[in-house]
Amino acid sequence: MGKRIVVALGGNALGNNLPEQMIAVKRTSKAIADLIEEGNQVVIAHGNGPQVGMIQAAMTELTRSDPKKYIPCPLSVCVAMSQGYIGYDLQNGLREELLDRGIRKGVSTVLTQVQVDPNDPAFQNPTKPIGAFMTQEEAQKMVAERDYQVVEDAGRGWRRVVASPKPVSIVEIDSIRDMVDAGLVVVACGGGGIPVFTTEGNHLKGAAAVIDKDFASECMAEMLDADFLIILTAVEKVAIHFGKPNQQWLDTITVSQAKQYCDEGHFAPGSMLPKVQAAMAFAASKPGRRALITLLEKARDGIQGRTGTIIVND
Ligand code: ADP
Ligand code: MG
Repeated sequence: MGKRIVVALGGNALGNNLPEQMIAVKRTSKAIADLIEEGNQVVIAHGNGPQVGMIQAAMTELTRSDPKKYIPCPLSVCVAMSQGYIGYDLQNGLREELLDRGIRKGVSTVLTQVQVDPNDPAFQNPTKPIGAFMTQEEAQKMVAERDYQVVEDAGRGWRRVVASPKPVSIVEIDSIRDMVDAGLVVVACGGGGIPVFTTEGNHLKGAAAVIDKDFASECMAEMLDADFLIILTAVEKVAIHFGKPNQQWLDTITVSQAKQYCDEGHFAPGSMLPKVQAAMAFAASKPGRRALITLLEKARDGIQGRTGTIIVND
C-alpha cells in the first residue's frame, strides 16, 4: 500500500542560479518519480533561498533605477514569485520524468500562504538577513520610510533582517488535500510559504518574514495526515559530533534521543537543527508517523529503510 509522503527539498535540489536549477531539477525529478513509481502519494515542498534572493535583488535594482516610478516590492510578493517559477520548473521536470516512465499523472503547484502569529517571539528579534546589500544611507532611508530593520553585515554593507516565525496554519490546505486525494502530485509551501497574518474580516496581509521550509513542511504533513515526512538534503544521514574525529552517523533514533542530541548541541542552528526539530515534531504528532532525513538521491532507499536517519516516536 502506498503512503502519503510530504517531501521537503533543500537547496541542493534546486541549485543556486538558473542554469544550475535546470540541471538540479532533472536529478530531483528522478528522486521524486522513484517515490511516485512505488505507488506513494507525494506532496513536494521546497526551499527558495537563492531564488528569492535573486528576485529581491532584481526588484531592488529596479527601484534604484527609478525610485519615482517603482516602489520596493514586498517580501511576500517576492516569495510568491519564487514559488511560481520554481513550481514551473518542477512541474515540467516531473512531467517529463513521469511520462518517460509511462506514468500519466498531473503535477500542479499551489501558491501557498502560511499563517504566522503576530505575537510570535521571533518578531521581537529578527535574525534572517535577506536581499541585496545596501549603503548606510540607503539602509537609513529604508528604516525611515519603510520601517525596515537593518544590520551591518560583517563589513560588507547593510542588509535588511526579518523574523523567522513558526508556521501556524496553511491557508490553501483544503485545495492541496483535494488535489492529493484526486491523485495529483502537488508542489506547495515553496520557500516555507508566503507568510501572512489574518487581519480584520477575511483579509490576509503579507508579513515581512520568512518561514523555515522544514517547519512549514512539517505543518503541511500534519495537516494532510501524511504517513511520512522526508527531508531531502545534502547529507545521507544525520550525525552526532558532526565533522569531528568521533563523528557518528545515526540510523534510527527516537524522539527522546533526538531531543537529547539537540540539547547537547549536535545540530547546527539554521541547517540541521530545524530538520531534526521538524522530524521530531512530526514523529511525535500521531502514532505511526515517521520522518526521514537523507540525501536527495537516496529517497527511495530511505523509505525502504536502507539508509538515511529515521526519527520515530518513543
Ligand atoms: P538544506 O538546503 O537542505 O536545508 P542546509 O545546508 O540548511 O540544507 O542543511 C544541511 C546541512 O547541515 C548539511 O549539508 C550539513 O553540512 C549540515 N549539518 C550541520 N550539522 C549536521 C549534523 N549534525 N549532521 C549532519 N549534517 C549536519
Ligand atoms: Mg536549510
